[in-house]
Amino acid sequence: MDITLHFFFNLSLLIILQFFSILLIGISKNQHSFKVQAIVFSILSLITCFAFTYQLHENILLNLYLIPILVGGLYVGLGPLLGLLAIISSGIYGFDIGFFSTVIVAIVSALLFWRISPWFFKRSVKQRMAIVTVMALIVGIYPPIIMQINQIPFPVFDVYFAYLVIQPLGAAMIAFVIELTCNTVHLRHHVVKSQRLEVVEKMAAAISHEIRNPLTAAVGFVQLMQDASISKDKSDQYLSIINSELNSAEKVIQNFLTFSQPQIESAEPLNINKELQFVIDILQPSANKNKVFIELNGSDIYWVIGDRQSFHQCFVNIIKNSIEAMENGGTITVEADSVPSEVNIRIHDTGKGMTPEQVERLGEPYYSTKGESGTGLGIMVAYNIVRAMKGTISVKSEVGKGTTFEFTFPAEIS
Ligand code: ADP
Ligand code: MG
Repeated sequence: MDITLHFFFNLSLLIILQFFSILLIGISKNQHSFKVQAIVFSILSLITCFAFTYQLHENILLNLYLIPILVGGLYVGLGPLLGLLAIISSGIYGFDIGFFSTVIVAIVSALLFWRISPWFFKRSVKQRMAIVTVMALIVGIYPPIIMQINQIPFPVFDVYFAYLVIQPLGAAMIAFVIELTCNTVHLRHHVVKSQRLEVVEKMAAAISHEIRNPLTAAVGFVQLMQDASISKDKSDQYLSIINSELNSAEKVIQNFLTFSQPQIESAEPLNINKELQFVIDILQPSANKNKVFIELNGSDIYWVIGDRQSFHQCFVNIIKNSIEAMENGGTITVEADSVPSEVNIRIHDTGKGMTPEQVERLGEPYYSTKGESGTGLGIMVAYNIVRAMKGTISVKSEVGKGTTFEFTFPAEIS
């Protein structure tokens, strides 16, 4: 069982490498280093497999190089690069039958994994694990078959066991650890974001308490005014106090209530097209000022459940940002469509766009790049409203090209 033993050795090297990549991901603060780690891990794993290869005959090399191609191809989309690297590494050992079989297996599997990588990402975690295992099994059949076709003698049980048991097992283990790491990184991120929000929410609850004071004062003066015997002077004085108290309450509300977790006060069916048209009408003057053209594509059949005012506020905030991102004019496309049980709304602008770091910070309280004129609250409020409507948001942005906000809400059947 030399080959099986050797494959176990190969696998342990891959696991050690993976351990170090995870260690680096854990240390690194930068979220985008994740992808770099994955690329480095795939390449190093492939080279390691070839460096510690098992030489069955002079020209037959056996190792686990298909695991890095599989994992790197599916998870990182590096199929062609890793395939090429495998061919070069194999070429270093000589141009013989072993090399040509590597060429065939590497090209076929690298292209296959690269092609199905986007589809692969849309599967659930369990499905991805199953796909990796099955793929490892499928590509594991080629090497023994190629040897059989070329009538190269080999220890049949050992080779089949190594390729059809160790290889799928190893691929599944590595995929499992990748999934676990992604999940952890994702959670860590989520926790940081919600901690930030929590602070603001607490503060908001305290401040909205402040509204009670002016309101109580106003109510008191209203009661005083109910007394029919008070003079005109007095009643004017009371009215002006009530006015100023109510104004200050309104200000507090305006400034701070938006911080706190919005509760959907009234939940009613909203016609997306009608409400979006309303929002666009409100913003038309500022759009005109910036020479921005707003286009609405949708149809009257999409409905969601929510609070009308909040819904308006959310989209005013988003579209206002889009207008502000296009100082020299441009187009905003507002689109709505629906898949069963979901309604999607896309707001696309051709504005200045954002870097991935900026996109990452969206929704953070007080995050603004507009200096004095920005509050850094618009997006946070919008996100809170969407959250309260049980919706989700995803943002795609490219510097200099534009930004797309995509909202998904549970659909209301009209
Ligand atoms: P404010 O508009 O007051 O700055 P927001 O919370 O509305 O605060 O937006 C936060 C930041 O997000 C903005 O300062 C801007 O940098 C960025 N941003 C939001 N929407 C867009 C967009 N459509 N295009 C480019 N940048 C945007
Ligand atoms: Mg804004």
